[in-house]
Amino acid sequence: MTKKTAAPEISPRPFAYRNRKLLCDGADLSSLADAHGTPLYVYSAQQISHRFQLFEAAFASRPHTICYAVKANSSLAILRLLAKQGAGFDIVSGGELERVRKAHKPALKKVVFSGVGKQVWEIDAALQADILLFNVESEAELHLLAARAEALGRRARFALRVNPDVFAETHPYISTGLSEHKFGIDIKAARAIYRKAAKYKWLDPAGVSVHIGSQIRKVDPFAAALARVTALIADLRKDGHDIRYVDAGGGLGIDYGTTAFHPAQQVEKYAAALTRGLANESAHLLLEPGRFIVAQAGALLTRVLVVKKNGSKTFVITDAGMNDLIRPALYHAHHEIIPVRQPAGKSTITADIVGPVCESGDFFARDRVISAVKPGDLVLLLDAGAYGMSLTSNYNSRPRPAELLIEGAQAKLIRRRETMRDLLAPEIPG
Ligand SMILES: *Cc1c(COP(=O)(O)O)cnc(C)c1O
Repeated sequence: MTKKTAAPEISPRPFAYRNRKLLCDGADLSSLADAHGTPLYVYSAQQISHRFQLFEAAFASRPHTICYAVKANSSLAILRLLAKQGAGFDIVSGGELERVRKAHKPALKKVVFSGVGKQVWEIDAALQADILLFNVESEAELHLLAARAEALGRRARFALRVNPDVFAETHPYISTGLSEHKFGIDIKAARAIYRKAAKYKWLDPAGVSVHIGSQIRKVDPFAAALARVTALIADLRKDGHDIRYVDAGGGLGIDYGTTAFHPAQQVEKYAAALTRGLANESAHLLLEPGRFIVAQAGALLTRVLVVKKNGSKTFVITDAGMNDLIRPALYHAHHEIIPVRQPAGKSTITADIVGPVCESGDFFARDRVISAVKPGDLVLLLDAGAYGMSLTSNYNSRPRPAELLIEGAQAKLIRRRETMRDLLAPEIPG
């Protein structure tokens, strides 16, 4: 068996100090803040490509397609970067389908379409684009897909997204693989539904898919889920279905803290777990990683507006708010926060780092020990490349931040800062 070896390991985070200045790869963050303003998302192209290549290398020995989960970070430039390296895409809406079309049209044929509530226009658009696979999440959706496929005269390849009833330890908001969750179809009911589906001339039961949740750090649940899927595939073949794809979903987690983290080893472990789960199954493997590819490649650069004391507490108020990065407010997620100018001394403060939005939930960290900062200083919120920009909003009528993609020492503006005109454009004051 020939195995492609991964590129030499690089640091899991592209942000590091040189001469007391914080750089993203070769680009100086302080200069970028001066040139582009804050809050500002900054991503390393090298890190994104490296993470994608780790998956390519780890699964090189079997037929596979890495379908990057667009919702983790849906910036066109990032989709294009990945598409050019051969990525497919996991989408969850008609909007994401349009993003793939715009980023790299040939990648449409490597799209898998997930989601529990697909609308007719979204199904039609995906049929017309001739995507690779519909991940069907209910019997009702299967009937709708059959009807639309017939109406448009296009055969639809589909997989049932089964719910394997496997527990994966993660935040309850991002766990999806238990029967109590809204996702997927009970694996015990799947065989009968495939049988029904086979009667539809316009449906092609081409695969089985599973996705048990997000930010999963232990790989055993992936093996357990896939073992159940593999057993189902064997039954489906006995029933005469031509199953060619097995979609293992996404969900591989990263380390948001400060313990040593080795992405290459983690992907190797993940691949070994999936291989265990697959046993002798040799169907084309689809993977849907999102967070693992982009989270640590990105960070949110923000400037301190005010440092204030209320009683015994210190608050550091930044120009980024929960509308720019909602993970701490939504999931109590941890993000490391570091100063852009490396402090000479060891002077620290214990503070809440908060945004300017009028909500008590607008915080990035509570009672955090950080190096002392003053108004005007820049700080960086690490590991914000996934579920950062893609979850931004205009709450408090705040324009969304700009985004930069760093290539070596060069910074490419991939999304300009929103303007007041952008903010008001869709509205009709009467
Ligand atoms: C969100 C999602 C993913 C990506 O999850 P990550 O944790 O970012 O890897 C993959 N597949 C489906 C169906 C999803 O909903």
